[in-house]
This record gives sequence, C-alpha cells and structure tokens, in this order.
Amino acid sequence: MNDETDQNQETPAGESRAWFECDDGWGSLIADLEAKLHVLSPDYTISQVKDKFGGLRYYANAGDVDAESSKRFYDLIHEAENKSFEICECCGQPARLSRRGRHGWMKTLCSTCAAKMNFEPVRSAGSETS
Ligand SMILES: [Zn+2]
Repeated sequence: MNDETDQNQETPAGESRAWFECDDGWGSLIADLEAKLHVLSPDYTISQVKDKFGGLRYYANAGDVDAESSKRFYDLIHEAENKSFEICECCGQPARLSRRGRHGWMKTLCSTCAAKMNFEPVRSAGSETS
C-alpha cells in the first residue's frame, strides 16, 4: 500500500501522442497497446514514449495492480516494442531497421520512406539464423 502512487506526477494515459517528430506509422501499434494496457490497469501512467535505436521504447507504470496483471502489462509493452521493428515508423508499412550513413542514427523504415530520407536497410547481427 503506497498512497504516493495516487499523486499523478506522470503523463496520464491518453495524452501520449505529442512525442514523435516523425509521422504516425506506429500510431495503431501504440493505440492497440494502450487499449490492452487500459484493460489491465485503467490507472496506468506513461512516463515516456520514444524511439531508440530504431525501435519503440514505451515506459509506463502499471500502478496498483496484482502481480499477474503487472507481468502481463509489461509483456504487452515488450511485444509492441518488438513489433515496432517490423513497422515503418513513418507510414506503417512493413519495414526494416535502417540506418543513415555508416554510423548514423537508426530508424525502422519501409523502403520508400528509407529512400526518401536517405536511410539504408541494416542487417542486424543475429537475425541471420532462421
Ligand atoms: Zn514508410
């Protein structure tokens, strides 16, 4: 029991879409995730949503829920983060991790968006088996 979790210092769920400089390719991925998170924990809070190394990073706090819901909550986030590597973050088409320049920054982009922004697909080490 921790009363401090009632203090709402973090961004309430639902006001989460102001963070992307790019277009809305991950919009439905995130909307879908948030719908499921909301079922598990109606009072959950989002700390931060961003893209890091080309993939979605979704930081949220499940709040006051039982252990099982909490586990499911973070599993769902993990799933969505993994899925983001297959979805163009600009237009939502099937995509690959891409990089601008040799040491440049990485984004998950479809070939059309990658070409437009001068990104090239990268082959991530480890994904070559299977
Ligand atoms: Zn695209």
